[in-house]
Amino acid sequence: MTAEITSRKVGDNAPYECIIVGAGPAGLTAALYMARYRRRVLVLHDETSRSLRIPLTHNVPGFPDGVSGVELVNRMISHAVQYGAVIESARVDSARHDGEKFELVGVDGTRWQARTLILGTGLHLNQIPLDHDVHEAAIKAGVLRYCPVCDGYEHIDARIAVVGCDTQGGKEAMFLRRFSRDITLMPLDFDALSAEERTTLAGANIKVLSVPVAHYALGPGVMEVTLDTGERHDFDVVYPALGVRPRTGLAVALGLRTDDAGCLDADAPFETQVPGLYSAGDIVEGLDQIAVAMAHGAIASTKAHNWLRLRDGEVLP
Ligand SMILES: Cc1cc2nc3c(=O)[nH]c(=O)nc-3n(C[C@H](O)[C@H](O)[C@H](O)COP(=O)(O)OP(=O)(O)OC[C@H]3O[C@@H](n4cnc5c(N)ncnc54)[C@H](O)[C@@H]3O)c2cc1C
Repeated sequence: MTAEITSRKVGDNAPYECIIVGAGPAGLTAALYMARYRRRVLVLHDETSRSLRIPLTHNVPGFPDGVSGVELVNRMISHAVQYGAVIESARVDSARHDGEKFELVGVDGTRWQARTLILGTGLHLNQIPLDHDVHEAAIKAGVLRYCPVCDGYEHIDARIAVVGCDTQGGKEAMFLRRFSRDITLMPLDFDALSAEERTTLAGANIKVLSVPVAHYALGPGVMEVTLDTGERHDFDVVYPALGVRPRTGLAVALGLRTDDAGCLDADAPFETQVPGLYSAGDIVEGLDQIAVAMAHGAIASTKAHNWLRLRDGEVLP
């Protein structure tokens, strides 16, 4: 599932004022703002925005009937390109800063340089064990979801299952309880839930299964969950709560610190320890949402623009 991405080849050493890694909502918003600040801006991305996997989102403001992730990303690309952003498909392998400029190197050895850098590299989801094609078909069918904040409203009164991460799964089950009375939690390790957590879950009428899941399958309009005992449960939707892996490799290589969850500090769209380096979107600690990623992109690009203005003496003393 990829967007039809406009890709313009540019010279390896073109003097960009800003490079943005990532063509998701964070990176593309930053690109639009930078282009409209009349900056030479290059976006590099490896075509793996999480947004491209969204069949139809209903919580992006301005789209009351929903919009697919592919359409949203394509619109954002066209918008940024219209104002002069250059967007190139490439995987960035390494990044360094020599005090004056950032240098990025692609997996094929291509090098790019710029005075400012914005990282909007997103995150990887920890997923349930399913073949890739079946997994993506289940997402498309709307029976496998990873974001209660995004999709809880779509499952009012549905049969909902939450998988794993024990306390985190318990929290997601409680969050989803507002939308349905029929919630089942399938923790990875039943003993990891405290007595107090079990009491709270029971008080909310959330069923907690103590038998591990043997396998998942996509059924007609349902997710079929088979337990180790052979017992089968069908759910209208399954929400894995298995955590995420922020894609902060480039940020860490440039000297930024991450928290226990692997995210960058919440201030990263505003400034970082490295002058001229900003970050935006899911890699930053906070709510992993399109609207938030867009807001981060707007902040990071405006900070980068003003940082360049300050450096170039374009501000009042
Ligand atoms: C199935 C699903 C449904 C969702 N539904 C919703 C919803 O309804 N509403 C909502 O608000 N959010 C939803 N989300 C979450 C939303 O997709 C993310 O919050 C959003 O995409 C974050 O934007 P981002 O720009 O930070 O990261 P991403 O969109 O993930 O973009 C990351 C970018 O970084 C690039 N990249 C990373 N590393 C490199 C590298 N080394 N070299 C080159 N490029 C690199 C990738 O190619 C990509 O372009 C959903 C997510 C999923 C998976």
